[in-house]
Amino acid sequence: MHLIDLRSDTVTRPTTAMREAMMMAEVGDDVYGDDPTVNTLQEFTANLLGFEAALFTCSGTQANFVALMAHCQRGDEYIVGQQAHTYRYEGGGAAVLGSIQPQPIEFTEDGTLDLDLVASKIKPDDIHFARTRLLCLENTQNGRFLPLEYLRQARDFSRSHSLKLHLDGARVFNAAVAQDIHVSEIAHHFDSVSVCLSKGLGAPIGSVLCGSTDFITRARRWRKVAGGGMRQAGILAAAGLFSLNHNVQRLAEDHANAHLLARGLQDLPQLTVRYEDNQTNMVFVTVADEDVTGLTERLRTENIIVSPGTQMRLVTHLDITTEDVESVIDVFHDHFR
Ligand SMILES: *Cc1c(COP(=O)(O)O)cnc(C)c1O
Repeated sequence: MHLIDLRSDTVTRPTTAMREAMMMAEVGDDVYGDDPTVNTLQEFTANLLGFEAALFTCSGTQANFVALMAHCQRGDEYIVGQQAHTYRYEGGGAAVLGSIQPQPIEFTEDGTLDLDLVASKIKPDDIHFARTRLLCLENTQNGRFLPLEYLRQARDFSRSHSLKLHLDGARVFNAAVAQDIHVSEIAHHFDSVSVCLSKGLGAPIGSVLCGSTDFITRARRWRKVAGGGMRQAGILAAAGLFSLNHNVQRLAEDHANAHLLARGLQDLPQLTVRYEDNQTNMVFVTVADEDVTGLTERLRTENIIVSPGTQMRLVTHLDITTEDVESVIDVFHDHFR
């Protein structure tokens, strides 16, 4: 049975070629630093993004967590978007486990954080306050890539306020491909960047955190503390290397499919479709309350899976073909006929 799963780009399954690369991977004990495939993945990713060093982690949450721990001490603070993954969707890990206080602020319409608002949240050096140390951005944010000019401003801003700048780049390759630029043009503005291999790139597991050698040394210690010191992890790193070597440029197909989906749905009066120029592989569709149950059930009978709710996020990825998108459009039209 062919499922069209639009819930997320995390649902992709490793292909036969990727599984073969995993099976053939040379391995060693990575806690000793002995796994050649993990080392290759880390060097490859660091070079690609333009950093000194990198660290393979089991998830994006873990990559962001160890980044926060390596940038901040107990009693420090990071400024972050209210809907950012590093604030809202990571179980409060930095606060729960690290005594690092988040200062969330609303995103602007385009997924950036207003730098004047950020400035107004930076605490003075005073015993009453946490020490503001770090600014976290997300790119893509809700599927939108951030303007390059904004990244330059954010970097200058962070330097002038002595803040470190971290990017949750779970989908940074989507951002680069959508703008037709090299990923390092985004990454070089940041002190650290986390990248997910298990989203649109199609690996089953894994993220990579990039930064300076010192920073990565501290992050490696925190990864061990978090229980993320994996042994013959080369089997997983091989999938990551495969994804970086084969699945980056093809993200453009996902963006084209998302665009096609948005255009196919936007003339239905029952829906409000959001897909702006800076969108990548996500289409946001608002469905009326009274329509949502019937629609979701109808889609399910056609083997199309979407997250429940009136705010639908439809995500294109490696396992969604253009024909799949066309049949999704047909089902929507038929349902609302
Ligand atoms: C998916 C995601 C992460 C990491 O999630 P994991 O499921 O822990 O790998 C981090 N940030 C963003 C924006 C994400 O979408």
